[in-house]
Amino acid sequence: MIISKLPTVGTTIFTTMSQLAAETGALNLSQGFPDFNAPQGLLDAVGRHVGAGHNQYSPMTGLPALRQQVVAKIARSYGATVDPDTEVTITPGATAAIFCAIQAVIRNGDEVIVFDPCYDSYVPSVELAGGRCVRVQLNLQGFALDFERIKAALSPRTRMIILNTPHNPTGALISRAELDQLAELIRDRDIYLLSDEVYEHLVFDGAAHVSVLAHKELYARAFVISSFGKTYHVTGWKTGYVVAPPDLTAELRKVHQYVNFCCVTPLQFALADFMADHPEHVDELPGFYQAKRDLFCDLLAPSRFTFTRVAGTYFQLVDYSRIRPDLDDVAMSLWMTREHGVASIPISVFYQNPPKEQRLVRLCFAKREETLRHAAEKLCVI
Ligand code: PMP
Ligand code: GLN
Repeated sequence: MIISKLPTVGTTIFTTMSQLAAETGALNLSQGFPDFNAPQGLLDAVGRHVGAGHNQYSPMTGLPALRQQVVAKIARSYGATVDPDTEVTITPGATAAIFCAIQAVIRNGDEVIVFDPCYDSYVPSVELAGGRCVRVQLNLQGFALDFERIKAALSPRTRMIILNTPHNPTGALISRAELDQLAELIRDRDIYLLSDEVYEHLVFDGAAHVSVLAHKELYARAFVISSFGKTYHVTGWKTGYVVAPPDLTAELRKVHQYVNFCCVTPLQFALADFMADHPEHVDELPGFYQAKRDLFCDLLAPSRFTFTRVAGTYFQLVDYSRIRPDLDDVAMSLWMTREHGVASIPISVFYQNPPKEQRLVRLCFAKREETLRHAAEKLCVI
């Protein structure tokens, strides 16, 4: 008889919904990934580096040229200076980065504040480290941080707070004023921050992403995590990075070197080349994805779904109260996939305590115009 270390964990909703979409032939707007290809220059670079023999282990900390490009991107985007050798580590995706950062500092009995709703990998990663998650509900209006609730959740055992901005699944952004408020709240406490910023370049309507990298006081205690998968349209490459002050980076690397040792070498070479040749790629992303968000929302305007355009990420939440208020969101997602040919993600799976009256599903708009038009046609007749 196996006594599971993760007794409440099943198969992730992303696997479940993508599989159901494949089985039923539904359009897959559930799991977050583009249905278009990455820039040709990036794809070509992989072939070039594989052909040139860049196929053996890379340095444990990540290819120096790629770490250098990450530093350049951070300087350009946030005006922050970080050291490529002591503060940047390349990891096999953001998921591994999150896992290693948590393992590096969380011990038995530590408490970690995570928000309700939050991305699905945080809680199991904390539990495997022996920690306990304390869920703090985001405000129902706009999914902003609720500082009264955060204050009430703090205890002498609180060792980490996990932020995610832009936020999956809601698209909400954290502001500079909120980071300042958080800094004040934890100033004299021994608390680390994990800031999941994988959607850092997907921020719309002229807003700027507020990175913990640009907040000196918070950065001193933070692991800031991003993913090349989101930024360069290559989620299947599972390549990401962690930026943290040298003392935290040293601890992170002690775990990373035994979980992953290093990342896929030719992919790192290709990303480094592409980033050096196309620094403008990240400047063009907000416009690129905002056009998709707006096309999709315009097409959905005549439907019976209601929504507020998201501020960031490539996910649009839609409220289906006018369509099937009798169904909870899991039942709604299954029904939409099976009966109407569009797969979505029910957002209750990101909660410990989903609000009972909430009727929201998440639709990914990182899709070709043709896919978005096709999906909207189906959604408009539900
Ligand atoms: N964090 C968030 C908020 C995400 O949405 C995702 C999904 N891609 C990840 C982390 C994981 O990123 P990666 O695919 O690079 O592991
Ligand atoms: N981050 C992606 C999403 O939110 C899914 C990643 C995964 O499948 N684990 O849709």
